[in-house]
Amino acid sequence: MMRFGNLDSRVVLLTPDGAVDVGTASRGRLPSDPVAALENWDEVLAWASDSDSQASTYDELLLGPPVPLPRQVFAIGLNYESHAVETGTPAPTFPPTFTKFPTSLGPPFGSVYLPSDRVDWEVELVVVIGKPTHGVGAAEAWQHVAGLTVGQDLSERFIQMRPPVPQFSLGKSFPGFAPTGPHIVTIDELDDPDDLAISCTLNGEEVQAGRTSDLIFGVPALIERLSTIVALLPGDLIFTGTPAGVGALRSPPRFLAPGDELVSTIEGLGSIVTRFAAAPQMLRG
Ligand code: ZN
Repeated sequence: MMRFGNLDSRVVLLTPDGAVDVGTASRGRLPSDPVAALENWDEVLAWASDSDSQASTYDELLLGPPVPLPRQVFAIGLNYESHAVETGTPAPTFPPTFTKFPTSLGPPFGSVYLPSDRVDWEVELVVVIGKPTHGVGAAEAWQHVAGLTVGQDLSERFIQMRPPVPQFSLGKSFPGFAPTGPHIVTIDELDDPDDLAISCTLNGEEVQAGRTSDLIFGVPALIERLSTIVALLPGDLIFTGTPAGVGALRSPPRFLAPGDELVSTIEGLGSIVTRFAAAPQMLRG
């Protein structure tokens, strides 16, 4: 089992018995900072594979985002045929890319303030980059991935789509709008990392369900396309896009409300749970 989480902004190896603090258990040989650990990922994996360190019990609800402050966060729009169809947009020929600013990251079990009554859900597979990656072809791309995790690309649709120029990055970057976790799972744990069931439920009702094999640009293709342009760094995240079933495109449209509970699940990676509360001050359109 190779799962890594974040407790108190320190990287921990998660085992069936509990959590092992990587920095402490390696006597300081390995970093405790999550991004620094990802920069030394091969060493961390080698240590973890024959670590017999004592694990401590921990409270899962205290886990932080697996990478709390990555240097870059990429997010991809319209990457499932089913979602492209519901938006009425032709399937893209290059991945439509925006960012979720790093301050939007949130923990796997947390609460998010709703800045308006137009906030929508988007369950997404999130890639954690494990090596410097520039000009990397699809065939080598998985070797540059530290692991996978679950994410929500929460989206304030009014700002996202406001004319004359859509503001995807701003509309998707309110504090807490990028909950991720519960941990990084290494890809050797997964039977087929290119084909994972992905779903989310709102107050127990399934609102999205798909498979990552339906991604128009799968993980290798995304890494190839992005890294032809941008140099990806260890710890960088890629939100890979969402399947059909978002709230804004339902009739009637449906948005998140105070008191709602959103559970986002990916096969082999686990679930994250996000609750919503009214912001002290709501946006005015
Ligand atoms: Zn999205």
